[in-house]
Amino acid sequence: MHPAGLVRTAKDEGFASLEGRVVLSGLCYSCGLCVAVCPENVIEMIVEMPTLKGNCTHCGDCFVECPKSYLPIKEIQENLFGDTQSFEQSIGYYQKIFSAQTKRKKILGVSQSGGVVTTLLTSALDQNLINGALVTALEGEWGPKPTIARTYPKLLESARSKYTVNSILTALKEVGAEDEIAVVGLPCHVQALRKLQVSSSSPKILNRIKILIGLFCSSSFTSSFLEYIRKKNSIELSQIKKFDISKGNVYLTVGAEKICFPLKEVSPYKPTGCRLCFDFTSELADISVGSEGAQTDWSAVIIRTEKGLEFFEQCQDCFKISNEVDLETIKKRATKKKLSFQKDANKLISKSLNFPLKTLFDFSREFKF
Ligand SMILES: Cc1cc2nc3c(=O)[nH]c(=O)nc-3n(C[C@H](O)[C@H](O)[C@H](O)COP(=O)(O)OP(=O)(O)OC[C@H]3O[C@@H](n4cnc5c(N)ncnc54)[C@H](O)[C@@H]3O)c2cc1C
Ligand code: SF4
Ligand code: SF4
Ligand code: SF4
Repeated sequence: MHPAGLVRTAKDEGFASLEGRVVLSGLCYSCGLCVAVCPENVIEMIVEMPTLKGNCTHCGDCFVECPKSYLPIKEIQENLFGDTQSFEQSIGYYQKIFSAQTKRKKILGVSQSGGVVTTLLTSALDQNLINGALVTALEGEWGPKPTIARTYPKLLESARSKYTVNSILTALKEVGAEDEIAVVGLPCHVQALRKLQVSSSSPKILNRIKILIGLFCSSSFTSSFLEYIRKKNSIELSQIKKFDISKGNVYLTVGAEKICFPLKEVSPYKPTGCRLCFDFTSELADISVGSEGAQTDWSAVIIRTEKGLEFFEQCQDCFKISNEVDLETIKKRATKKKLSFQKDANKLISKSLNFPLKTLFDFSREFKF
């Protein structure tokens, strides 16, 4: 159920409510959901921000459904887990946590950490559990290209992390009425889809999503981040085989060489939307996957929902599994992100913002570490 004032404002102001209260206020994290829900198809992502390119009919959907207009976090948690008591403060509700590595050598060679995500998708495709997956392929030199991959080669091509802002949910428009897809997203993408699931308008497209796989995320970066990397290291981006962000550092694999520098060096390229993000481990996903807490070439895996458990079990023969996972490190990183969110949220409240972010801010006050 949406707050009444929010719906009224959205209909009165149309796209201007989204533009003024989310985009120009620096809250937008470029998830692309507003593009997908606009019934008139008049929103486009231009320079990573939603922009009106046509006649707005003031239906209000873009602002109402945007995860940054408000996020009914408690409702989502109850809906997903049926339990709001036994939450782990820093990483959310989960059933199981372990580390895994794919047994498929070809996938391990092209993936980011343990190849867990791409192996889950290819195995699910083999078993007809899904007929495609919303993933992020490469556009040009290290740009993200959201796409629905429907074959093994396309899934393989989309492995590895792309670190610039990714409006993956724009590709929801490509989902067909008969599709059964998996979605791989960052915590912000997962939040946007979960909000839509509890929304009164809950579009039919959501029935096409069989599983939500969330990645861990400390931040993404604006596209100028790539230009900075190119200049700083005097290399062409095409020479970079892999980007990685872990343990507070950025790592670039260039041929046999590994270049490393502190993450804080690229903090000026952090989008403002990422500064107001509380979720490190994709707390609202069915299954979360990251590299933190796992050994090199392994992934940390968090199973959260019954659906996630069933899906993983159907694919688990493809993995080596170990209980060796550094939970404390994951919790530490997640706590740091929440505390930083709390600080930034409080700064915004003190400027007395005039839009309904109250539920999110109330939520921020609940973190007590
Ligand atoms: C921007 C970003 C920041 C991250 N920060 C951290 C971190 O701080 N700590 C940590 O432990 N892990 C982080 N991760 C997750 C980590 O990099 C790996 O994605 C994760 O360990 C899964 O590895 P894998 O080998 O199982 O995945 P793979 O098998 O390599 O598959 C990766 C999947 O991620 C998808 N993907 C790639 N880029 C994006 C993107 N930008 N948005 C949405 N989907 C994408 C691909 O399409 C593919 O399906 C981050 C990922 C991204 C994209
Ligand atoms: S956060 Fe997502 S839905 Fe909201 S304005 Fe930005 S791109 Fe659109
Ligand atoms: S028509 Fe599109 S841009 Fe206008 S309010 Fe509706 S969703 Fe937003
Ligand atoms: S830090 Fe948050 S908003 Fe930014 S890309 Fe990661 S999940 Fe999305």
